[in-house]
Amino acid sequence: MDLYEYQARQMFKEHGVPVLDYRLASTPDEAREGARELLEGGATLLVVKAQVKTGGRGKAGGVKLAHTAEEAREKAREILGLDIKGHVVTRVMIASGADIAAEYYFSILLDRSNRRHLAMCSREGGMDIETLAKERPEALARVPLDPLVGIDADVARRIVNEAGFDPAVGDAIAPVLQTLWEVYRDEDATLVEVNPLVLSPDGSIWAVDGKVTLDDNARFRHPDHAGLVDVAAQDPREAAAKEAGLNYVRLEGEVGVIGNGAGLVMSTLDVVAMAGEEFGGLKPANFLDIGGGASAEVMARGLEIILGDDQVRSVFVNVFGGITACDQVARGIIGALDALGETATKPLVVRLDGNRVEEGRAILTEARHPLVHMEETMDGAARRAAQLAAQAPSK
Ligand code: GDP
Ligand code: MN
Repeated sequence: MDLYEYQARQMFKEHGVPVLDYRLASTPDEAREGARELLEGGATLLVVKAQVKTGGRGKAGGVKLAHTAEEAREKAREILGLDIKGHVVTRVMIASGADIAAEYYFSILLDRSNRRHLAMCSREGGMDIETLAKERPEALARVPLDPLVGIDADVARRIVNEAGFDPAVGDAIAPVLQTLWEVYRDEDATLVEVNPLVLSPDGSIWAVDGKVTLDDNARFRHPDHAGLVDVAAQDPREAAAKEAGLNYVRLEGEVGVIGNGAGLVMSTLDVVAMAGEEFGGLKPANFLDIGGGASAEVMARGLEIILGDDQVRSVFVNVFGGITACDQVARGIIGALDALGETATKPLVVRLDGNRVEEGRAILTEARHPLVHMEETMDGAARRAAQLAAQAPSK
């Protein structure tokens, strides 16, 4: 999960990273009000910043300076509604502005290819870091981090030395790097990036931008992170699936796919896409893995989510019974269809194999549900599902 800048700033503040005070606003008037509070609190410069989860806001006109509350209102009016790389701005952050003498770059990230945490630091911040890394790689220090040590005083000194800071600035920055490591470690982040980290004329250091990505796999350790989820921006089906503990990803196609186990679901997507070519390029509508030990109830919940998706015209349930026995799956399918009653109108192609397959097939045969089609093989079932989707009245 990527955080908004204001969420990152709040997190930085809680850990003791030096940041300036801010307010959030979704209208120009709120922006003026927030600006007034900051000015009363002693701010002499204000910055109005688009809150969108993409970089390069400055270049796109999404970051503007202001000196008075009225000016902040005006800048907010200009920024709200802007489309920045496909993200429409609905909120701005009004922050106390830093007086900038120099802009630096610092990040900590999970370097997957080297299986390490990596710190990157440069005296040339503010600009696009990919460009810097490509054109002047020598200006970007890269220091691999030992996960058990992270960034302590010694490592921090090494980073600032390798980046080529003069000693006075290096001394001012080093403790900030240590604190940013604490954010990265304690919040289970995979990215903490500050661009720019600024030096003010008085020698103080400020994180004026912040990009944080949290590791969703560690979410269970951070109940407080639930509040950071952007509910409004979430696909409602993906949210419902997450709530039910299902692994669901919505795609662009027409054939709903449910399987047990990520490997099986992925290969099902492939065979559906291949079978769909014969019917004018039909494609999978989603990825839904009900998992290894799924119960009838879980199957039912998954089916409900997929059948509720308007773009789905047929569903392919592909299950290899292991821990989840086929009779459980069959009962889940029938249970879900019963529960949905008349609202279920889309054909279902079911291919069962593995543990208790005979019992599973018998349950489906006996139920004689008009929407359920059984197929023996995966390829046959994929073709059938694509064919049924092609025949279904399109929306
Ligand atoms: P980004 O373009 O999305 O990365 O947004 P940033 O927060 O990095 O802002 C872009 C640029 O705006 C920075 O590189 C600064 O030059 C400028 N800027 C941002 N915040 C401040 C601030 O507090 N004071 C001043 N003087 N300039 C700022
Ligand atoms: Mn930036």
